[in-house]
Amino acid sequence: MTDSAHIPVTQLQPPGADSEAVACSNCAACCCQLEVMLITETGVPERYISTDDWGGEVMLRLDDGWCAALDRDSMRCSIYEQRPLICREFEMASPECIEERRGMATIYR
Ligand code: SF4
Ligand code: SF4
Repeated sequence: MTDSAHIPVTQLQPPGADSEAVACSNCAACCCQLEVMLITETGVPERYISTDDWGGEVMLRLDDGWCAALDRDSMRCSIYEQRPLICREFEMASPECIEERRGMATIYR
């Protein structure tokens, strides 16, 4: 019988994570540059809402591409409790998240 206390534990990293774990706290809010459609009512303030070319409501993005609701000092969402459904469903460390982080890393390099 194996003594589980002696089995070596390896911390697996998500793909593309390099040596640092994938976390919003070590990310420049990469996913907050994506277009975010408003498909349900979550209470996003009007001043952060724009209309896309097809008449759909989206989060307003500023000239540098980041969402207007992003707090630039903390790089956190300033309307977290009212954030759109799409933002709620965007999972940290998901393949989409990794891809966005990778995209930003190549911009900065
Ligand atoms: S979900 Fe992913 S891409 Fe978005 S802020 Fe968090 S770590 Fe960055
Ligand atoms: S609403 Fe918040 S979480 Fe969604 S893109 Fe804007 S800043 Fe990011």
